[in-house]
Amino acid sequence: MNFKKSQKLYNKGLVNLVGAVNSPVRAFASVGGNPLFIKKAKGSKITDVDDNKYVDLVLSYGPMILGHRHKKVQKAITKALENGYSFGASTENEIKLAKIVCDAFPGMDKVRFVNSGTEAVLSGIRLARAFTGKDKIIKFSGCYHGHQDALLVAAGSGLATLSLPGSKGVPEGAVKNTLIANYNDLESVKAHFDTHDDIAGVIIEPVAGNMGVVTPKDNFLKELKEYLKTKGALLIADEVMTGFRSKFGGAQELFEVEADITCLGKVIGGGFPVGAYGARNEIMEMVAPLGGMYQAGTLSGNPIAMAAGIATLTELKKQNPYKEFNEVAKEIEEALLKYADEFNVELTVNRFGSMINPFFTNKKVTNFKEAQTTDTKKFAVFFWEMIKNGVFLPPSQFEAWFLSSALSKKDVNLTKKAINKAMKAVANM
Ligand SMILES: *Cc1c(COP(=O)(O)O)cnc(C)c1O
Repeated sequence: MNFKKSQKLYNKGLVNLVGAVNSPVRAFASVGGNPLFIKKAKGSKITDVDDNKYVDLVLSYGPMILGHRHKKVQKAITKALENGYSFGASTENEIKLAKIVCDAFPGMDKVRFVNSGTEAVLSGIRLARAFTGKDKIIKFSGCYHGHQDALLVAAGSGLATLSLPGSKGVPEGAVKNTLIANYNDLESVKAHFDTHDDIAGVIIEPVAGNMGVVTPKDNFLKELKEYLKTKGALLIADEVMTGFRSKFGGAQELFEVEADITCLGKVIGGGFPVGAYGARNEIMEMVAPLGGMYQAGTLSGNPIAMAAGIATLTELKKQNPYKEFNEVAKEIEEALLKYADEFNVELTVNRFGSMINPFFTNKKVTNFKEAQTTDTKKFAVFFWEMIKNGVFLPPSQFEAWFLSSALSKKDVNLTKKAINKAMKAVANM
């Protein structure tokens, strides 16, 4: 296996692109070496420009849940292309996708489509403030909610990978209304309410995927929601990663918790830039043109993206792959633990539905602090050995691995073999 063409493109890319990437998570900063440049992908596989083929467990960081270029999605996009790319006016497909989304999330009567997860969350936060008339927002340490100023503190994956505490260029004023709590720790939320009376809401990844995978403890989400109700504050579920991934109705369906505001992205666009935020009528009526909260977008509800979203969600509902996701994830977890044990590597595996990831630590990982006990140098060795054995992983310890419904038995076996080799390499480093 060689990476000559990727290396060449990387050097070329450095001239006019920042670090040759358009998102820092794609840089190989924490695993060493140069980023791979991708030529194409189909089904469960992705191919780089040197024609190395991998089982893809990145899946564009989640969106490609059906695998790449599923034929139904491809057909829908092709058909949409025939009619035009963007109109700046409404189309029927926006109504169709809105219905699919609102049917999946009982807490959403209405939805507004935007172009990314970042946009969905920043709008969701604005909406919580507009509805409650309060300014402060609580976020959890290690949760990532996109790159808007107000939430770029203690923000997990991208920053954690690059060892950045927060972002430069974010003025103090922009984060002065952001309070930080600890994941899985309701008392840390209550402590903020004890000292502040102007808290609009709490934003959470209902299953965290941006500090590695961290799951909520038993009744954490339910108790959080009930507590917020007594305080007149809103629960904002950032399901950009978990929506349609752990269950069709997201983590909220699984944990039987209804958020006041839900933010979506990733899977709903089937690989195209789509985000969404929604809530019950009473809250959504705050949004312009019905209400006084302004939020807009030239390309929002883009017809090609809507077609891809409808086709992806329709096929996903039909396939209902969630039980199988659990089984495959369990199989991968068992392989990780088995080989870690065999080669005496300290390992903790967290998984949730089709999201999984190993931490190189002997500690349980239930929050950001514990996630940071992982040995990232071991992950770097593990990562490259997985690449060399044909498995494409996110180049960061703090990103989840994703499963697609296109994965075959053969792909899973290849992945397990690669894990064996990679764990051995970690033991011998
Ligand atoms: C990816 C992600 C975002 C940001 O979405 P973008 O489309 O990258 O802007 C926000 N929240 C969560 C939980 C995410 O995983």
